[in-house]
Amino acid sequence: QHDETWKKLHTHIDEWVAGSKTHTKEGHVASYIPELANASGNILGFCIMDHAGQTITSGDSEFRFTLQSISKVFSLILALMDNGEEVVFSKVGMEPTGDDFNSMLKLELIEPGIPFNPLINAGAIAISSLIGGNTPDEQIDRILHFFRDIADNPALDINQNVFKSESDTAHRNRSLAYFLKDNGVLDKEVDEVLRVYFSHCSVEVNCTDLARMALVLAHNGVDPIRKQRLIPRRFVQITKTFMFTCGMYNASGEFAMNVGLPAKSGVSGSILTMVPGQYGIGVVGPALNRKGNSTAGVHLLGMLSQEFDWSLF
Ligand code: GLU
Repeated sequence: QHDETWKKLHTHIDEWVAGSKTHTKEGHVASYIPELANASGNILGFCIMDHAGQTITSGDSEFRFTLQSISKVFSLILALMDNGEEVVFSKVGMEPTGDDFNSMLKLELIEPGIPFNPLINAGAIAISSLIGGNTPDEQIDRILHFFRDIADNPALDINQNVFKSESDTAHRNRSLAYFLKDNGVLDKEVDEVLRVYFSHCSVEVNCTDLARMALVLAHNGVDPIRKQRLIPRRFVQITKTFMFTCGMYNASGEFAMNVGLPAKSGVSGSILTMVPGQYGIGVVGPALNRKGNSTAGVHLLGMLSQEFDWSLF
């Protein structure tokens, strides 16, 4: 079946990507982080990777972008590896919110005043504070090493322009962090925690990096190419569950319905997803719909899922 899928992908992917690319017109590039507004809206890049590391790429697959919220998936995993489940879930809950990703609503609703889940900004900021290391620099270093290891790409690095742009304008994230600090969720200083958070959001990648990272999650924490376990199975299970219930912002239910795969999107227009047990997938299309997901990216994944019957249900 793999051979058949692969052959069909090879034959049709360029026409499918070109078809989905017309949907970029319906969206808008994010601008609340000024540096992100420089990306062209008319871009769609795709990469899929199989267990042996073979890739099929299409469209603007060389386009470089920052992980943004996709990084929250891997900072969560690292926090779980550093602290265990009990500590992590004393700081964040397990429930979707139905609110915007940077919402102030409902912050106080889960006892004792912790964010609903680790994929909304408030939750991810709490998670950043849990990454091992004595200083923010040590924490950032640890994150970078971990991301490079999962992506099998020692060249991954922080885009300093995006980092600075976000850091300079992050009034809302700053207020979320102060709120968490007041609630006793953050043990560290707000500015230090935010530096770690903005740093992991600003790691720059391309679609192939995304597909490579997703491949490790698709294989439950084992890198099928290097044949090495990188993440304990339970932590991948936890993370994929969050991706399924809250990975696509407030459109997670709709995405589950139309695509049916665990996924995480970011405001850079990126989407990381996977076919469990098989493929890692990376997509980027900076033009976003009202819910903050790539218009063309969501369209393309819906099409592929239907074509290959990828929904888990
Ligand atoms: N760094 C972005 C922020 O905190 C991430 C948002 C996202 O990708 O959803 O606003």
